[in-house]
Amino acid sequence: MLAQRISLLSGSGTAAARDATTVAAATGRQVIDLAAGEVIIQPPPSVREGAIAAIKAGTNRYTDSIGLSPLRKTVAEKLSAETGIAWKAEDIAITAGAKQGLLDAALAVLDPGDEVIIIRPYWPTFPSQVVLAGARPVFVDARPPTYIPDIDAIRAVVTPHTKAIIINSPNNPTGAVYDRAILRAIGDLAINYHLWIVSDECYSNFVFTGARHESILTAHPGVRSRTILVNAFSKELAITGWRLGYFAAPREIVSAAKKLQSHTTSNANVIAQHAILHHLKVGDGSFEQEMFQRLSMVRNAGLLILSGLHDVVTPIAKGSFFFYLDLSKFISALPAGSPVRSTDDIARLLLEKADVGSVPGATFGDVSGLRLSFGAPPDLVESGLKRVVETLNSLKTRQAAA
Ligand code: PLP
Repeated sequence: MLAQRISLLSGSGTAAARDATTVAAATGRQVIDLAAGEVIIQPPPSVREGAIAAIKAGTNRYTDSIGLSPLRKTVAEKLSAETGIAWKAEDIAITAGAKQGLLDAALAVLDPGDEVIIIRPYWPTFPSQVVLAGARPVFVDARPPTYIPDIDAIRAVVTPHTKAIIINSPNNPTGAVYDRAILRAIGDLAINYHLWIVSDECYSNFVFTGARHESILTAHPGVRSRTILVNAFSKELAITGWRLGYFAAPREIVSAAKKLQSHTTSNANVIAQHAILHHLKVGDGSFEQEMFQRLSMVRNAGLLILSGLHDVVTPIAKGSFFFYLDLSKFISALPAGSPVRSTDDIARLLLEKADVGSVPGATFGDVSGLRLSFGAPPDLVESGLKRVVETLNSLKTRQAAA
């Protein structure tokens, strides 16, 4: 018999959507995958050259469990430049992707019985990791179209058991980007109630419409001693499969991660560590800029296409690389006998009839949403979104004709 904790974990909805898309594509159909949470682009040459050089040099040994010292130092310098806050190597842990940094954070600060505030719609790993640590996720709904949480709603769920709040801006799946006001309010609340803040900023490079990413640490420097800032190279450098991330945090958390990682993964992949170190030394930022420009262009074109949807408000999509549609009005306007009753049905219909992969909102704890990634190649995003609009609008047309 398996341990109880396994039954408490949700399966990965995004992985399930990816699997369904792969299965459909394997039948020979021209499936357009708008489900994937990654930008489909080759990683920068500097990253690849760094990996090749490390392999050619015969690099093969364990590293310190929280990463090579020169990499920790270089990441500290990068973060200092980005935030205007001074970081040292000792404040940084290198992790196997943001996911491990988040798990380190959960295991380091949570005890059984603790509660953790999570904003919903949420990236599904947040609650699963809280559960793994024996604690209890407590959800606060962020509502469309902005998906910025209401500070009073957050305050209303604080109890003596609340130990932490997890925030994610720019947000997966909603594309919300938290402004200084909400970040300051969350910071004040964390101070008042003695909470840890876990701030997942792994989409920080993807903020559109001229706005800039703001970290809770720049919005509210007073929360530094209670904040674990998690980030990764996965999305920023299109190396999701390489597994390299980091966090910056008070030193007691870095020490905890050193122990945790030494007993779990030992260290993040050494070749990936050298590759990123090389990139951070020689990269001129052109890859990051080009990727941003591509996404910016695709986002604009995509929003124009999505504005043709009936009964669906065009998403704001300010950050990350997801269009998150609120389909509540769309679904409630369908006739009572319609076989389409949920966003699960819609995702299935899109895959079966339009050959488009998407992720239904239930994955993110929100039955009304549907996530469409614009990280796929631009021509595919465009054709995929046109198919989405055509398919959904045709449900309406059929209804009108009935
Ligand atoms: N955090 C968020 C909000 C994500 O969307 C993802 C991946 O989709 C991750 C963390 C995981 O990042 P990594 O691949 O670096 O572990």
